[in-house]
Formats: sequence, C-alpha cells, structure tokens
Amino acid sequence: MSIKSNLQAVLNALPKGTTLVAVSKTKSIAEIMEAYDAGQRHFGENRIQEMVEKQPRLPDDIKWHMIGHLQRNKVRHMAGFVHLVHGVDRLKTLKEINKRAKSHDRVIHCLLQAKIAEEESKFGMSFEEIEQLLRSEAYKNLHNIKIDGLMGMATFTDDTEQIDQEFGRLRAFYKKLKTDYPELNTLSMGMSGDYKIALENGSNMVRIGSAIFGSRG
Ligand SMILES: *Cc1c(COP(=O)(O)O)cnc(C)c1O
Repeated sequence: MSIKSNLQAVLNALPKGTTLVAVSKTKSIAEIMEAYDAGQRHFGENRIQEMVEKQPRLPDDIKWHMIGHLQRNKVRHMAGFVHLVHGVDRLKTLKEINKRAKSHDRVIHCLLQAKIAEEESKFGMSFEEIEQLLRSEAYKNLHNIKIDGLMGMATFTDDTEQIDQEFGRLRAFYKKLKTDYPELNTLSMGMSGDYKIALENGSNMVRIGSAIFGSRG
C-alpha cells in the first residue's frame, strides 16, 4: 500500500466537512511530499522542534497543526506559521501563545484539550476547568488567540464501548458549550485506531498518522 492509496482510503471514510490532519511525526520530507502531491494540505506534528525543522523545507501552503503537549519555552519558534494548536491545557500556555502571536501580528487559532481518557498519563483539562477558562477575564483580554473548539484523546484500549462513551461525553460537552459560545466550530477527535468511532460521535477533525504513513516502528 502506498501513502497515496492509504490517504485515499481514509478520505473515502470521512463525511463531507471533516478536516483530515495527516500526522507526519517521525516521517521524512519525501513521505510528507508524497501525501502533499496527492492533495493533502493539513499536516500535524507533536513536537515543536520537529515541525519547525520541517516547515521551511516544505511548500508554503501547508497548514501546520501542533497536536502534542506544548512546551511553553518553544512556542515562539512556531508562532510565525502554525495554523492550529490542538493541545492547549492551561491559561498560562494560552497567554504565551497570545504573546508570541502578537509579536508576529497574527491571531493563532487554538483548541482546548479535554481530558476524557482514564489514563493518568493523558494531558488535558476537566470540563469544569474549560468552562472556567472561557469565562475568565484573563482569557477575554487575549486578543491574538482564538479558541475554535476542543480536542480529546480516548483511552488506548480495544474496548470500543469505552472509546464510544469517552467520545460521547466530549461531544455532549462541546454541544453544551456551543450554546454559550456559538463561534466554536471544531471538535478534534479520532486517530488511526478510533476515528470511525469519533466520527459517529460528531468529530469534524481527525488526526491520522499510521493509517496513512504506516507504523512509526
Ligand atoms: C500521534 C498522534 C496521532 C496520530 O496517531 P495514529 O495512531 O498514528 O493515527 C493523533 N493525535 C495525537 C495527539 C498524536 O500524538
């Protein structure tokens, strides 16, 4: 199977209006170009350093997504070009992104990462913390960031029932938030192993690596 045919198979499984973020972490420039040449434009990386190294070596019209946990001291390196930051899990990080976006005269779009998995290791905010952040004066004063929605990762398990429940909880919370914040438009859920369950639960942005590029070894 080639990257191109894998990409096509994934695209065929996505409803209209779903954004596919091709997760290219650890993959080479040549591999990324194969997906680019097949028409893919959104790419995701989980380390700022790796994204910053790849970005100048690839076409300018790629939309770069930072999907990993954020090290605040590295935010400035991507502030000039990043398209969407998925992994924001605290106000302090949002303030740093705002500051660096301002110095580039940009508005950087962000998603708040919600913790829906049972694993302790997964990052993210509780639903209550998310509501508090959105209500806070501190957030309202940040004019160079825009929160577009939520990102979540389900527990790594074969139990599809559990994954379905976790995505379902996030979908319900997102819907509830949208009544107060109708400008929200993005629910980023689903990876290679669970994106079909995520789509059934209303995801409109999936982050898929190995199903396109093969395993990361
Ligand atoms: C690596 C990664 C993905 C993609 O994982 P695959 O299983 O290879 O599709 C999605 N989201 C995040 C946050 C990741 O770190």
